[in-house]
Formats: sequence, structure tokens, C-alpha cells
Amino acid sequence: LPRVLIMGRPNVGKSALFNRLIRRREALVYNTPTDHVTRDIREGVAKLGNLRFKVLDSAGIEAEASSGSVLGRTAEMTGNVLSKTQFVILLVDARDGVLPMDLDVGKWLRKNAPGMKTIVVMNKAESLDDCDGSLGAAVGDAYNLGFGEPIALSAETGLGMAELHETLRPLLEEYVIQNNIRDDEIKENEENNSSEDMESKLPLQLAIVGRPNVGKSTLLNTILQEDRVLVGPEAGLTRDSIRAEFEYEGRTIYLVDTAGWLERTKQQEKGPASLSIMQSRKHLMRAHVVVLVLDAEEIAKARRSMKHVEVVIARRAVEEGRGLVVIVNKMDLLRGKENYKLYKSVIEAVPQEIQTVIPQVTGIPVVFVSALEAKSQIAVMNQVVETYEKWCLRLSTARLNRWLRKVMSRHSWKDQAAQPKIKYFTQVKARPPTFIAFMSGKTQLSDTDLRFLTRSLKEDFDLGGIPVRILQRTVE
Ligand code: GDP
Repeated sequence: LPRVLIMGRPNVGKSALFNRLIRRREALVYNTPTDHVTRDIREGVAKLGNLRFKVLDSAGIEAEASSGSVLGRTAEMTGNVLSKTQFVILLVDARDGVLPMDLDVGKWLRKNAPGMKTIVVMNKAESLDDCDGSLGAAVGDAYNLGFGEPIALSAETGLGMAELHETLRPLLEEYVIQNNIRDDEIKENEENNSSEDMESKLPLQLAIVGRPNVGKSTLLNTILQEDRVLVGPEAGLTRDSIRAEFEYEGRTIYLVDTAGWLERTKQQEKGPASLSIMQSRKHLMRAHVVVLVLDAEEIAKARRSMKHVEVVIARRAVEEGRGLVVIVNKMDLLRGKENYKLYKSVIEAVPQEIQTVIPQVTGIPVVFVSALEAKSQIAVMNQVVETYEKWCLRLSTARLNRWLRKVMSRHSWKDQAAQPKIKYFTQVKARPPTFIAFMSGKTQLSDTDLRFLTRSLKEDFDLGGIPVRILQRTVE
């Protein structure tokens, strides 16, 4: 089997990644004799999707680097292992970005193992969900290590492991072809070819929000196909926690509790909404998909489809990077010939108004239902699941760059010089999909460029209703 060595300065999470790769399998611990000391190197058979390879954790010897002089001894010891290794994962801490010591490891590697195929992996990326630019900065730095496209992942949560798989697969396959390794040795056992790496199979956290009496509880009962809303344990203790867990088509759904917030909105319905909205932030952040319920009868009566508080909730959900689904409930009250005009106006007005109040996200799905009818379960949940899967989407860098070339060539800029010089385009994370455009030299994407790229991404990859983010970094 090909060997992959995990390298990096102390505390970047080498063992955590090692452990995730070997799962609960046995790790072989052997000693690396050097001039004075012996240090442990762990080796195990990694299982990543359908890939099998040997993975080596250099954590035991790297520990020496913090106390020893320079990288000296560590480097020396790693050198022994390196000669038997085909690939290196150079691990960096995404939160710290690239530190001088990371650069040293990179430099040493380039000098001592020239041509070694090295993959830069930024660990602990789960903590950089906020997209305040810090992840972008870290990825940009990591790109400057000079080993090509960095991958952001979390060894702790498993986020991004699919990306690592994508990157390793062609490398390992090529190695196998060149070395004629028996296929069955690689595959070993295909049993439980895990879906663990598929982020979209993780439990979906759902929040159902809306003003009082729009029919949230009714809808929830229909979704759960039961007569009662499942109540969590002790009230008061678990206000912030998961309220119900259920299965929909083999998928686990956690209903995020919004009760506390809803009570506050009830009280403040007539007053300024801002306070309750601020408090809702926490709840929204816990949800992957936010379902905003509106009342069709109210909309038919009023001139505007959405009340201020509903606009604020929808905007907030999008700003927080949640997938948003709008449900217009009580459509049964607008049935019949006499209501046809009203019915039609509601169906036309809601998507239009949503587009007006949230111009930054096009194609937010709107589902018209009657929560009293059992079939609304399917209509609502199918849309929720579809939105979730898009929210989890990962596009390979190769595909993105092919797409980028196409998009750039089909768009014409007034002035050739105004055309943005994007060297490289990559997805740094999913949930929600977040991309980085690496700009050459001092050029920057204008707001118009960003809007154009975002719109094109959404259209070409069918990402309606998903808050897609594009960050930019400069590369030399
Ligand atoms: P919540 O405060 O948002 O949880 O709203 P409820 O679920 O308690 O519903 C408020 C009222 O609207 C109740 O009297 C429901 O029976 C009624 N309701 C809910 N959904 C529908 C619907 O689709 N059609 C009709 N006609 N009434 C509904």
C-alpha cells in the first residue's frame, strides 16, 4: 500500500487526523532509532471512502521539535521515515494561519524530499465558520506554502474529509498503476463503504420560525405525522437545545428549539422587533435550514406579503449563512372560484417580494401548502432536504476552474483591462458553500464582479436559495 506521512508543527492535530483516518483499527507503533533517542511513529491502514493506504503519524517525533534546537532532530528523524513515504500531508492550523514554523517545515521538506507530492491540509477549519475573512486569509497563506491547493477540513468533526478523498484519489490511483499493486489489496474489504465522509448525510438541523398563529405547530405535527409536538426534556433547562428528533426518508432531522424566542416575539409583537431578533440569532445559527412560515390568508388581506419581523428573520437567516425555505401556509382558505384572484396574487407576490427584500440570494424556494393536509409533509420536507443538500455541496477545484474559464469567456467587459484577473478559484468549505478567488497581483474583484460570479455560480450549479460566499485573496 502507498504510504502517506502526516507532518506539521506540534498541536496542529496530526494525531486527530491519524485517528480519524484509521478509525478504530489497530495502529502499529514502532520505534525510529536515531543517534540519541528513540521516538514512536504510528502507522495504520487508513480507510477513506473506498481508498486504502498506510498512514504515518509523526506526532511522536515532532514533539521533540518544541524543546530541541531548531527543527533539527525532528527533521533528521522524519527523514528516515520520509524515504519510505510516497505522499506527505502537511498539516497547518487554520485558526493560526501559516506560522514561521510551518514555513520551516515546508522549506525543509522541499529541500530534503524534492518532488515529494505534498498536500497542504488546514485543520480545525470548523471553528472558522464565520467567514469574517479569517479562513480566507489562512487559505491564502497556506497556498503560499507552494504546494498547491490547500484543503480545509476538521479532523475533529470530519468536515472536509470528502475533499481530502477527492485530492488523494487520483494520486493514489496513479501510484497503484505505476507499481502494479493488486487491486484487492487496496480495496481490502469494501464492507461498510462508509458514508461518513458525506457531509450531506449528517443530521439535518431544522428550525421552523414565524409569527404566532401562522401555523407552525400545525405544520410541525403534520411533518411528524403525529397529533402532538414532541416536547424535549425539562422545560427551562433545555431551552436552547434540540426539541425533537425524527427520521424523514432515512435521514435524521433535529428540530432546533425556537420556543424561547417565539415567546419573546409574541410579547413584543407590537413593539420593536429588534430585541427578539437579536436573541433569535443564536437559534438560527444552530439550524442548517430555516423554514419561515407565512400565513396566506393574512397576505391576501394585506398589501404586503411579509411583515417587518418576517423580513428581518429571513434576512438574518441568509446573513448567518443558513439555507432558507419559505412556506406559505393556509392556502386551503384561498381555494374555490371566488378566491381565484387572491390565490393567484399570493402565489405571484410572495416570491417577488422575497426577491426584493433579499436581493443577494436569488431563487429562495417558496412552497405553498395547507398544514392541515397530510401531503404538505412531503412538499415541505422534500424542499428542506433539497436545500440542505445544496447547502452541503462541494465542487472540486478542477470543475470550478473549468467553470470559471467558461464564465469569464462568455462575459464581456467594456474595457479589457477591467476584466478581473482570477488566477485560481476554489471552494474552501461547504455548509454554506464558500469560495475563494485568488487574484493575481494587486487586482481586486469589484462588487459588480462579485455579484456576477455569485449569480453565475448559483445559476450554473443550481444553488437557488443558498447563501453562497466568495472571498478573495491576492497571490503573487
Ligand atoms: P403557531 O402559533 O404558528 O404554532 O400556529 P398554530 O399551528 O397554533 O396555528 C394557528 C391556527 O391556524 C390554528 O387554529 C390552526 O388550526 C390554524 N391553521 C394552521 N394551519 C392551517 C392551514 O393550513 N389551514 C387552515 N385553514 N388553518 C390552519
